[in-house]
This record gives sequence, structure tokens and C-alpha cells, in this order.
Amino acid sequence: MSARFPVRCSSSELYSRMLSILERLVGFDTTSHKSNLELINYVQGLLSSNNIDSTLHWNDERTKANLVATAGPRSGGQRGIIWSGHTDVVPVDGQKWTADPFTLRVTDGQAIGRGTADMKGFIACCLAILSQVDHEALTVPVTLLLTYEEEVGCVGARRLVPEMQTWADDSIGCVVGEPTGMKVVIGHKGKQNYRIRFKGEPKHAALAPEMPNPIVSASELAAFAQSLNEQFQSEGPHDQRFSIDHSWINIGRIDGGVKPNIVPDNCLMELEIRAVPGHDCDGIADELRRFAAESLLAKMKKKSQLADISVEQLSDTPSFAIDESHAFVDLVRSAFGEEEPPEYVPFGTEAGLIWGKAGVPAVVCGPGFISQAHTADESVPLEQLKLCLSRLQQLPLA
Ligand SMILES: [Zn+2]
Repeated sequence: MSARFPVRCSSSELYSRMLSILERLVGFDTTSHKSNLELINYVQGLLSSNNIDSTLHWNDERTKANLVATAGPRSGGQRGIIWSGHTDVVPVDGQKWTADPFTLRVTDGQAIGRGTADMKGFIACCLAILSQVDHEALTVPVTLLLTYEEEVGCVGARRLVPEMQTWADDSIGCVVGEPTGMKVVIGHKGKQNYRIRFKGEPKHAALAPEMPNPIVSASELAAFAQSLNEQFQSEGPHDQRFSIDHSWINIGRIDGGVKPNIVPDNCLMELEIRAVPGHDCDGIADELRRFAAESLLAKMKKKSQLADISVEQLSDTPSFAIDESHAFVDLVRSAFGEEEPPEYVPFGTEAGLIWGKAGVPAVVCGPGFISQAHTADESVPLEQLKLCLSRLQQLPLA
């Protein structure tokens, strides 16, 4: 039922084209806090050389952009099959690379460089195909979606949710190309990061009994979080699809005070909530907020009106879960000839926004392995890139 994907070159030409595109992509230092516009301009040029128009969706400062480009028939504004990837990469600071992270090396069956696994390898495969597709001959549109700042909490994709909601009825579904070893993944936990600042007044330690102590308040919040963790562990909600089958709050950083003879005037805490699908991160955060305001701050204020607790959300990656029997999951799995049961992964992706918030069916499937992502000498096996190129062309076209 599926026609051959109409590309204008042989598969070996497509493969070498993909590698040269990957070399260019890795060469753009798109660490999340930097601009991605050079990369976006390059992609726009590549697509327009094959008569594919792209639309940019900017951040407020116009330093970063999401890109949306559709090849093939566009009657009724259809998006068809969507291939989605983030353009940003994590920092290389403090990592011991054996060569320049932003110069692609191809050796021993691996492509090495920052972002090769996460997830410029996937984007290079998409671009190699789209830059060679005879898009007049495509029977179903193919849309490329590139986003910014995924690594700091899906910032770019979140901005695009209202736009993506308009695609829900006009698309078949979306492949999010995060590294899964090309296995079809249908779920992951949600995650939110928070920074909480506790404020008091600096005083001589002799006056400590009369003063609020921000470090003590922070540790009380940590103990409360731990009591919630024990409740999640024993009472759930449980989701057996994950090896750790319940939600958890990780206290990741605590920092405050100066020395023993001074009552501290501040303490900073950073924590991460990881929740199974169906267990709302917002709800867990609300419980922490309520305890901080009603129990801790109320107590602190009795001793000093300067006392304060502020809670700042640093990132929000919603959980993702699509039914194993959903038509799009079935379509991708049968196109890829996958017989093993679909998988669940421990890391977050944009699929939770694309499916959960925008209503566009999604799976996560891309070349490379998460164990290689974010590491020094990050790499993707060349075999995985080859597999990705052929799998993307196997998605049904009619
Ligand atoms: Zn990623």
C-alpha cells in the first residue's frame, strides 16, 4: 500500500548527503542559551533549494526560532507525517572531549560530535530526504518541525502549542526523533524543576531563638517532600510500565548561610519532580507550595516580617503516554516492521506537548542511544543513521 518514497538520488548518495548535512549541523554551536538562527538559516536555505517554504516562529527577543516546513501536497493546509527535532544541545562545559565538540568526526562506525545522538543525527536524516524529495510526487505531505530550547524545558515547543493544536485534525502523526535506538517509544514520565528561595534576617547567633531560620525551613520542606515520596512509593499512583513505577521529588541542591555564629538570612533549594503519566506535576508542586506557605512561611513570619518564601518554576516537560492500540502507533510500528512490544523511556521529550497538549498523535523514535546523549565525545552509530534514513522513507505515503 505504501509507494516508494520519491527521492531523487540513490540511497548511498542520500547517506553521504546526510553525513555532510550532519557535519554542518554539528558545526553550529546551538547550546541552549545561544542563538539557533545560523542553523535555522542554513536549514531554510537547504529546504528552499528544493522549493520547500518554511515558516519561522520566533522567541520574544528574536534570537531563536522554531521552524515549520511542509513538503508535498498542501490542499486544505494538511501537515501529513510530522518529523520533529530540537535544534539545541547541552553545554560541553566541564566535559573532557578528545577533540573539538563542534567538528564532526566519523570514525570506527560512529559519528562523534555534540548533538550527534541528541538529536542532530535525526535532523540530518530528515533534511537529507527533504532536500532530495520530489515533493510533487509525494502523495502525503511531510512536515519538518524544528524547535529551540528543548533541553531547558521544551520552551520553543511550548510556544508552538496553539499553532500545533490547529494541526491535530490535519496531520497523521508526529515522529519525535530523540535517540531510542530506532525503537518506537510510546511513553515517558513528566518532569518539572523548581528553585525555592527562603529569606530571613541576618542576626547574631545569640538571637537565634527569636529569628526565623531559612535553612531549617528548607530542610522542613525537604522532609515534607520525602514524606510525599514515601506516600507515592507505597500508595501510588503506580504505573508498571516504568521500572521505577511511581513519582518522586528529588531535592537536588540546597545552599545557604555563612557561618555558625550568624543566623542565616537565606537558603536556596532546587528540586525536580518526576511523575508517572496521569500523576500531575502541577498537583505535586501545589502540595509543596501549600506546605511552604501555610506551615513554613506562617511560622517564619511570626518571628520576622522580612521572612519570605518564593517558588520559581525552571522547567516543565509534561509526561507522555499514547495508547499502544492508537492508529498512529500501529501505523509506525507496522511500517517499521516492529514486532517487539512498544517501549517506555526514563527521559522526557516534546512528545508530551505534541500529543498531550496539542492533540497531534506522536511516538518517540530516533537514531542513537540516550546513554550517549549529553556525554563527552557524544556519538551515534552510523548504522543507526542508515536505519533512520530507510525507516523514515518507509512511513506510509498513501
Ligand atoms: Zn533531546
